Amino acid sequence: MKCEKCKKAGSTKSTYTNRTYCDSHFMEMISRRIRKDLRVSQKIDIKKEYGFARSTSHETAIAKHFLSEIFGGRLKLSKNSPNAIMPRSLDKEVKEFLEEFLENKESKQHLLNPLRTVLEEEIKEICRILGIRYPKNNETNEILESIEEKYPGTKFSLMKSMKEIKPKNKK
Ligand SMILES: [Zn+2]
Repeated sequence: MKCEKCKKAGSTKSTYTNRTYCDSHFMEMISRRIRKDLRVSQKIDIKKEYGFARSTSHETAIAKHFLSEIFGGRLKLSKNSPNAIMPRSLDKEVKEFLEEFLENKESKQHLLNPLRTVLEEEIKEICRILGIRYPKNNETNEILESIEEKYPGTKFSLMKSMKEIKPKNKK
């Protein structure tokens, strides 16, 4: 398999774009997707300070990597900021959304999530490329996986619908 962009040996096949990429073009493709989502739907205010909800997780490490690539030093990060960033994969956010919706739990959907357009399988690849340890017992949602297998694209569709059906924030 060759990279679609540079014709070097590709190692990562994206189920989202159905294309093969070398490591650097894979990272570039993900970075573009994150940038677009942040610009169009999530709106980071560069004048505000942000902080990570969890300081040590592979998701935080990945989010830091892309945020510094996208914003350089312009994005201010502090430890105890009220503007929490909670990076998690698209799979996790969809799963969380369904649970919140069905169990009437407090919603975390208002927290900024730079990784919400990134699939769990892509998170795993990013960990390999950046040399970040990917947790062994990282839970996946079997129901969601089997629906996705039968109807490819379901996760992304759910993600898009979630923007319209926002659960109430219980405070
Ligand atoms: Zn390439």
